[in-house]
Amino acid sequence: MLKRLVSASCVSAILIGAGVTVASAETFVTIGTGGQTGVYYQVGGAICRLVNKGTKDHDIKCTHTTGGSVANINGIRNGDINMGVAQSDWQYHAYNGTAPDKFPEGAYEDLRAVFSVHPEPMTVVARADSGIDSIDDLKGKRVNVGNPGSGARATFEVYMKEMGWEMSDFALASELKSAEQAAALCDDKVDAIVFTVGHPAGTIKEATTSCESKLISANNDAAKKLAEDNDFYAMTSIPGGMYRGSDEDTETFGVGATFVASTDTSDEVVYEMVKAVFENFRRFKKMHPAFANLKEEDMITNNLSAPLHPGAVKYYKEKGWL
Ligand code: GLU
Repeated sequence: MLKRLVSASCVSAILIGAGVTVASAETFVTIGTGGQTGVYYQVGGAICRLVNKGTKDHDIKCTHTTGGSVANINGIRNGDINMGVAQSDWQYHAYNGTAPDKFPEGAYEDLRAVFSVHPEPMTVVARADSGIDSIDDLKGKRVNVGNPGSGARATFEVYMKEMGWEMSDFALASELKSAEQAAALCDDKVDAIVFTVGHPAGTIKEATTSCESKLISANNDAAKKLAEDNDFYAMTSIPGGMYRGSDEDTETFGVGATFVASTDTSDEVVYEMVKAVFENFRRFKKMHPAFANLKEEDMITNNLSAPLHPGAVKYYKEKGWL
């Protein structure tokens, strides 16, 4: 079991006293996150910082990579990474096998939920000079739909289907990564960007401060239907005043970010990761403004469709939360 979990292992032999040899192994854990200017990257960084503070006690060393929800879940499945951040909709579809185009291997029954994190509204930013004033105006425009592998792209495809849109309905459907999209918008390479992300997000700050742009609401029938028909979607809003150019609340639908692992991730590792976060919870919440409103009881129940990982259950039971 340890084999898939340990990406690399460093065994050091320590000689104690009169020739007693004790072997200690460091376990390397990799968390799949998202682009550097999104929030997932910060989630992974925050978790790793807290875990690595305790390496001398538990011998676990944590690193994080970029990817996005769908890539992270598939990366856990094929053993490239051990844990990851993933949107609630893609956690659901992976576990239940209800999105074969994203998860071609079928239902991923070994996927395990660890906890949920921040809300992620589907966020549309349009250039002020683009003529886009409502979500319907996206049709015929140059839109960055996001890179394949990101949950944001996959969720926009779901929304497009509900709207009856095809990629060919856009003058351009670019597939830039989240870290590239703000520059593309402000260089006038695209008219709008679409990104399902927590707030405030670096990429949205960049897109709204480097040029004249504004957030566009998506609270139409398509969004409401998705929220009504699926537990993993909900109507939500992005507070007015958070970004330049958008003083009013932006109404849209969204998902929740979640932290996932698999049955191949050892109970001990998940236990230590969860412990590192919750024993330092006040510090964790200060690590990014999108975490400010997190509450322990919500994090262990909301937006989780795969079963909880036993290592997480152990800690939550010790705390009396389950
Ligand atoms: N929700 C996005 C995705 O799964 C990532 C958001 C972020 O990087 O914070 O692709």
